Amino acid sequence: MASRDSASAGGPDQAAPGSPGAGPGLMPVAGIASNDTLGPGGLTQAQARRPRPPRHLADLDPAGRRAAVTGLGEPAFRAGQLSRHYFARLTRDPAEMTDLPARSRERLSATLLPGLLSAERELSCDAGTTRKTLWRAFDGAYLESVLMRYPDRVTVCVSSQAGCGMACPFCATGQAGLTRNLSAAEIVEQIVAAGRALAAGRVPGGPGRVSNVVFMGMGEPLANYRGVISALRRITDPLPDGLGISRRSVTVSTVGLVPAIRRLAAEELAVTLAVSLHAPDDDLRDELVPVNTRWKVAAVLDAAWSYAAATRRRVSIEYALIRDVNDQMWRADMLGTLLSGQLTHVNLIPLNPTPGSRWTAPEPEVAARFAGRLAAHGLPVTVRDTRGREIDGACGQLAASSQVPIR
Ligand code: SF4
Repeated sequence: MASRDSASAGGPDQAAPGSPGAGPGLMPVAGIASNDTLGPGGLTQAQARRPRPPRHLADLDPAGRRAAVTGLGEPAFRAGQLSRHYFARLTRDPAEMTDLPARSRERLSATLLPGLLSAERELSCDAGTTRKTLWRAFDGAYLESVLMRYPDRVTVCVSSQAGCGMACPFCATGQAGLTRNLSAAEIVEQIVAAGRALAAGRVPGGPGRVSNVVFMGMGEPLANYRGVISALRRITDPLPDGLGISRRSVTVSTVGLVPAIRRLAAEELAVTLAVSLHAPDDDLRDELVPVNTRWKVAAVLDAAWSYAAATRRRVSIEYALIRDVNDQMWRADMLGTLLSGQLTHVNLIPLNPTPGSRWTAPEPEVAARFAGRLAAHGLPVTVRDTRGREIDGACGQLAASSQVPIR
C-alpha cells in the first residue's frame, strides 16, 4: 500500500510519524498523552479507535499516488491521468475516463476514488445560491458543508471534523462533542462535490467553479492538524495535482490552539488565518471558548501576530456578537486597544442562535455601534453577511437536527 503523504490523516488509528500510537491529526502538545485528543478547556479526551476512511487519491501526494498505481500493476503516469479526472474534471466515473484502458478504469476508480460521502439532506435558501449539505461518511458519521454563491465568488465552508471537542457553549456542534477527525480526502470531497454542482449548473447563476474555501464548518481545524494540512495542499496545489485554488482564497479558522498556529506558520502555506476570539477578556472567553482556560487571550493573539509576520497575511479576528454577553461598548474599546496597530481585520458575526439556546444576536444598531467603536481604533471591520439563517446556517445545526437521517 502506498503511504499517505507526511501531513495526511486517516482514521483515528493512524499513527503520527515519530509519535507511535497517536491518532490522526492529534495535536502534539506537551503534556497530552499520545492517544488522547484535545478537549474543552484544554483537557484531554480519549478518542475511541474507529475504522479508517477508505484510502483515496486525495489523501496522497503525487509521489504517493504514483506508488499506489504502480502497486496495482499500472504505469506511474496513470496517477496523473487519475488526478486530472478527479481534481480537474471532478469525476470518479470510470465511463468518463476514456484515456484509460477499459480494463484499468474500474479497478483504479474503485481502489483510489472510492465514494466517501453520501448526501443525506440538502437545504437551500437565498434563491438557491446558498446550499447546505448534510453528509454521511462511510462509518455513519455526519458532517456538513455549505456552498455560498456571491456575484464575484463562490465560497465553500467545509467541516474538518465530525463533531467538535471544543465545547463552545453557543455552538450546536460543540454541544454534541467530537465524533472523529475527517481524512484529507473527506475534506477535499466536500469541495469537489460543490464544484460538481456548480459545473453542472445546479446552482443558480450558470456554470461556475469554487473560488474560495473556508474551514468554518464543523470542527476545530487545528485539532485535526495533519488531515487539514494535507487537505490544504490538495486544495491549493495547481491543477491537476490539486484543485488549484489560490492560497489567498483559503481561510483556516481556529479557536486559538497556540502551538498549532505556530506550526502552521512554518508550513509555508500562507493561507489566511482566522482566530475566533469572541471576547477580549479572559474571564468571559474562558466561558465562551473553553480552550481559553489553556491558552489565554494574550497568548493566542501573540501567536496570531507571529503568523501575520511570518506570512505577511492579515489575520482575521472573528467575533460572534451575542446580545448582553459580549456586545458592550467597553468590550469594543478593550478589543480595539488589543488589536490596534496589528496586521488584522475584525469580522463581527451576529450570532446565529442554536435552537433552544438562551443566547441570541444583538439588534443591528448595536452591532453597527460596536463596529464603529472598533473602527475608531483604526481597525478595518466588517459585520458578516449572515447567510443561511433559514437553513440552520451555523455550524452543526443541521447535523444536530438530524438525529434521524432523512433518506
Ligand atoms: S464554535 Fe467551532 S470550535 Fe467551538 S465548538 Fe463550535 S465548531 Fe467547535
